[in-house]
Amino acid sequence: MRRLQAAPNLAIATLWADWLSGGGIAASVQRANAQAIAGQIPPDQCLPEVWIEDDDRVDAARALLAGLTAAPARDWVCPHCRERIEGPFEECWNCGAAMPR
Ligand SMILES: [Zn+2]
Repeated sequence: MRRLQAAPNLAIATLWADWLSGGGIAASVQRANAQAIAGQIPPDQCLPEVWIEDDDRVDAARALLAGLTAAPARDWVCPHCRERIEGPFEECWNCGAAMPR
């Protein structure tokens, strides 16, 4: 297991882990529950983190994540829950509804 990167929030950490797993790199979100005790530790130490299982694949994982964040942004608003979706996602991360065509 190796720490790859901290994410600004749990939703994004989960997206990153899913993206990496989809790309063939086993990844998981760590400290996902730490925000529940936010206030007891410094905020920059309670962000969720994405970890990969295979230490040797950290470069591949970074490249994969770079591809995710560099993908053309297609902002859309979920017609179901009104969540604003940013990035290359065709499903609402909040409720799972498909992007309107
Ligand atoms: Zn939604």
